[in-house]
Amino acid sequence: MARFEDLLRPTREGLYCPPGDFYIDPVLPVGRALVTHGHADHARPGNGRVLATRRTLDIMALRYGEDFASERQAAGWGEAIRIGDVAVSFHPAGHVLGSAQIAVEWGGMRIVASGDYKRRADPTAEAFEPVPCDVFITEATFGLPVFRHPPAREEARKLLASTRRFPERAHLVGAYALGKAQRMIRLIRDEGYDEPIYIHGALKRLCDFYQSEGIDLGELRPATLERGAKADFAGAIVVGPPSAFADKWARRFPDPVSCFASGWMRVRQRARQRGVELPLIVSDHCDWDELVETIVEIAPQEVWVTHGREEALVRWCTLKNLRARPLHLVGYEDESD
Ligand SMILES: [Zn+2]
Repeated sequence: MARFEDLLRPTREGLYCPPGDFYIDPVLPVGRALVTHGHADHARPGNGRVLATRRTLDIMALRYGEDFASERQAAGWGEAIRIGDVAVSFHPAGHVLGSAQIAVEWGGMRIVASGDYKRRADPTAEAFEPVPCDVFITEATFGLPVFRHPPAREEARKLLASTRRFPERAHLVGAYALGKAQRMIRLIRDEGYDEPIYIHGALKRLCDFYQSEGIDLGELRPATLERGAKADFAGAIVVGPPSAFADKWARRFPDPVSCFASGWMRVRQRARQRGVELPLIVSDHCDWDELVETIVEIAPQEVWVTHGREEALVRWCTLKNLRARPLHLVGYEDESD
C-alpha cells in the first residue's frame, strides 16, 4: 500500500516526487522542476527542464533571460500531463498572474501543492479554483488568527483620500514588482483614478507584460525626475519596489508620503520600522479565515503546511480531527508580500 510520502516528500531541494523524478518549486538547481509562480523564491533559474503555466514561463524569461532553463514546457489550465507514471495538472491559485496550484496523481492518490494562493477577488490574477484531493499542501504566511486582511478597495480609498488631503505631496507606494504593483495600480483605477500613475523603472517590464496580457493598468509614466521638475510630482502617485524607497531616489520627490502595500502592514511595528507613513494592508496571500475556510471547503484527508506560521494551522487542523503536519521547507520568504 503506497503512502502519500511515496508520491511527494520534502527534501533539501524542495518538494520531491520520486515516481515522477521531479521537484516542485526547487530552491536548488534540479533536472526537472515544476514551478507554481514567478516570485523569486519559487521560480529560480538554472534548472534543466521547467514545466509551468505559459505566463509563469514568460515571467521567468523576463526576469532571468530566455536561457533560464535548458528546456521549458507550458501547462494549460487543467491539462493532464504525464511525467513517468504520474499525472500532473495546473490550476489557478489567485496569487499573481499565471500562478498555479499543482495537482499530482499516482497510485490512486492525489496531492495538491497550492504554492502561494489567495481567495480574494483580484482582476490581475486568475481566480483560485478548489481542487478535490487527498492531501492539500497549504502555505501559512498569515497563519495566525490575528491576521485578517481588510477589503483591498478600502486600502486604495485610503490612498486616494490622502492624495486629496495632501495635494502638494507625492505619494510613494512601495509594492513588490510582480503582482502587488499591478494589483495596486488596478485597485486605484477601479476607484476611479484616471490620472497618469508614475512607476519606477524596475516595474516597467512586468507592468508592460500585464498590459500585454490584457490587464488594463491605464496610463503609466516613468517616474524619472529631471532637474528642477520636483513640482511635477506634487499630488502624484508613484509606485516602486519597496527597496527603491529607502534610497536617494525617493528623496527627490516633493515632501513624499511613504506608503507600503503589504499584508504585513497589519503589524504596526513593521510599518514603523520601515518609516511608513501610510500603511496599506493589501496581501496576495490568504488571511487566517481564508486559510481555514479553504481547508474546510476542500476537505482533504491530510493537510501539509509549509512556509510561514505552520504551528497554529497544524493545531487548528488537529482540533478539527484532521491529520496535519508541518513540512519545514526552507528557502521560501514570507516577506515578499
Ligand atoms: Zn508568491
